[in-house]
This record gives sequence, structure tokens and C-alpha cells, in this order.
Amino acid sequence: MDPSQAAPRAASAAVDPDRLAQELTERFRQVLSTKRMTELSTMSSSRSSSPAPRDFGTPQPPPTHNAPPSYRSLRNIPLVPQAPQDARSMRFKHMLHSLSNMPLKWENPGLLDEALRAVPLEQIYNEAEEESQILQAEAESLGAGKKAAWGYQDCVIRALLRWFKRTFFTWVNNPACSRCYSPTVGVGITTPLPDEQARGANQVELYRCSVEQCGRYERYPRYNDAFVLLQTRRGRCGEWANCFSMLCRAVGSRVRWVWNSEDHVWTEVYSVHRKRWVHVDACEEAWDKPRLYTDGWGRKLAYCIAFSVDGAMDVTRRYVRNPSKHSLERTRAPEAVLLHIMDEIRALRRNNMSKQDKFRLEGEDMREARELRGYIISGIAGEVSEIKAEDIINGCSSRTRTDPDAPKALEGRTSGNSQWIRNRGEDGRSAQNQQDPRNNHPR
Ligand SMILES: [Zn+2]
Repeated sequence: MDPSQAAPRAASAAVDPDRLAQELTERFRQVLSTKRMTELSTMSSSRSSSPAPRDFGTPQPPPTHNAPPSYRSLRNIPLVPQAPQDARSMRFKHMLHSLSNMPLKWENPGLLDEALRAVPLEQIYNEAEEESQILQAEAESLGAGKKAAWGYQDCVIRALLRWFKRTFFTWVNNPACSRCYSPTVGVGITTPLPDEQARGANQVELYRCSVEQCGRYERYPRYNDAFVLLQTRRGRCGEWANCFSMLCRAVGSRVRWVWNSEDHVWTEVYSVHRKRWVHVDACEEAWDKPRLYTDGWGRKLAYCIAFSVDGAMDVTRRYVRNPSKHSLERTRAPEAVLLHIMDEIRALRRNNMSKQDKFRLEGEDMREARELRGYIISGIAGEVSEIKAEDIINGCSSRTRTDPDAPKALEGRTSGNSQWIRNRGEDGRSAQNQQDPRNNHPR
């Protein structure tokens, strides 16, 4: 049995995504072709260092100045996985394997139960109940058969997110002086004390009070253990994502930990209601805003890799919708090798699963791959022509819901103070990724 057929279809998706993709591809092929012809006739001898894309249409015109962008690694969809051979690829493999262990640390039923004691569950369930009823009523007011934007469990995570950001966890750049409360200055990294080590800190940042007469040293242990973080309740995005993801698990959602090669981490939660993974960034109280980092913060990203207790997936395309503008060169390993590593981690995680569970997860992977391919197509649509992908989609479907991922009022980063954000070039105004990596705080 084909697992993708066994899975229930998304209720509002009246359009077959594959057929839609084909139609779109065909239209863009025509648009591209026309655009190229126009360009060729107007600017005959301009040169470009980037090769023209090979994926679209034949014959190939020579590269022109305004040629549609090459999608480099992101467009290489049909690749055969290949085992790593060179030292660089091996390093990447070891790193990804080690990162992939993060979600496993949350799979401790006893500790998860214990963790829930830190959460005002009644408040969260009440808020979720209320919100899901409102969404349900909204959907019904739009007509029979309309589905609410989010389900109850999604609303639980949304309520958890609000509480976590607004009342529970604190953002720390430099810890304040505990004697005179003055700001401190970073002086380096030091070795953890035995009790810090016992609680899982393998690195301690050291700060010195900026007031000369005081001069007190402050230690800032970077704890890796989500359950320890329930007590310390502070940190930068590494601590935020770790602790918040664990709590999502504790309230019963499937969760992913997303590692980004440009020094950020966040969460994805599986929405059973929408049958897809949803971007959640606890530091920013962001729900389903995958374009936050690119359109919002003005960053360029190379890799975004999601790890869960039952899989691993390269989800870069969910976050980089416009590769020519926001993708960084992916140089850590050939793309075929990355596929191999993802397969390897998936196989490892699913090793002891029943055939049925493996089947279900493979079906899910296929649906997600389709979703991610769809972003490339609408990205191309937005880029090479004035045609709006939504218009075309709406033109041939009965869907009325607007694209929830469309960039609305995306702002710059909100976690961290303004100087720190500016240094990182994440205020949504500065040029892309201008920060000096030496000034960078570790995650
Ligand atoms: Zn002081």
C-alpha cells in the first residue's frame, strides 16, 4: 500500500499539489522563455559570473546580466545519496549526528512529568480552549465545511509559547553584576566548576563588573540540560529552544529541534490539524513565521536541519523562500552526501520501529518533501515574473484562506538588546550578516 494514499488528505487542499506544481512549472517555463528572449534582444553582450539555470527549458541561452538566479544546491532535488568520502564531509556527518541527539534527551517520561509542574497548566489549557473555540467559530462563519486555522493542540502550544516568553524565561546577553547590578564585560571562557559540570554545563562564560571599584566576576554557565534550564530560566536562543522544545514534548506534541548553520536554533512542532510541521521560535514568540530570519532579520542562511526523535530533515527551503536573495553557499558537504547523512540518521532513529510506523513516517517525509518543493516553485514565481503564485493557486482552486506564511509585518529581532542585535545585523535594517564573528556570542 502506498503510504501517501493511506494518509488522510489535507481537508482544504482541493488541489493536487503535484498537478499544481506541474502546471506552475509549465507556466514559469513560458514566462522565463519570454523574459529571456526579451533580455537577449535588449542586452546582447552583458556578462555574468553565475551560470544560467539548467533546469528550465531548452535550448539554453547564454548567461545574461538579468538571467534568473541559479538555485545552486537548493534546486538539486533528484540526487542519489552518496556516502561521505572527504574529511570535510566526514566532519559534517559527525557534527550532524551529534546534533541529532538533542531531541532524544527530552524522551524521559518521568522528567517530562516533573517538568509540567513548572507550567501553569490550567491557565494554558483554558487559553487554548478559548482560542480554539474562537478559531472554530471563525471558520464556521465562513461557511459549512470550513476548517479552523489551528486545532486545539496547536492552541496549547501557542499558549505555552506566550507564557514561556512573557513570564517564564529571561534573555541574557551579559549577566548583570550580582553585587552592584551594573553591566558586565565579557572576559572569556573558563572551565566549569564541579557543580556546574554536574548540571551539564560544559562551558562557562566569564564576565567582569564594569565598575572599577567593584570588579566582581560573574560566571555564566551554558547549561545544555533542558531540565536544569527549568530552574535557571535564562539564556540565549540555545537555552530557549532547548527548554521550550522539551516543554512542547511534555504537553504531548511531536517536536523538532532545528539547527541553523548561522548560529541560531529554534523549534518545530507537528500540527496534527494542519498535517505539517510548524515553525516556532520561543525567543521571538513567533508561531509559523518561517520567513522571520530572512525577510525579518535580513539574514542569509545556508543550512536549517530539523531533528526529532524519529527523523531528520533538511528544512532549509521552508526558511529560505527566495534562494537568490537569502541563501548562503552550502559548502560543508556535497548535497548528495547531506542526503545520505539524513537517510542515515532517519534509519538510526527508526531502527526499532514497527513496519507500520516506518511506513507512516515515510509517507510524512514524502508529504513534507512535496511541501518544500512547492516553496521553490512559488519562490521562482515571485522572482522571475510579476505573477503572484497565490493568484495562480487561487485561480485554479476553491481555497479562500490566504497564505498564512505570507510576509506581513515581519519585524527585526526582538530577543536581546538593541546593540547586540545591531552587532549581529539582525535588526531587519542592516546589510545582511555584517557582524564580525569574533564579536558574536555563542548561541
Ligand atoms: Zn559590580
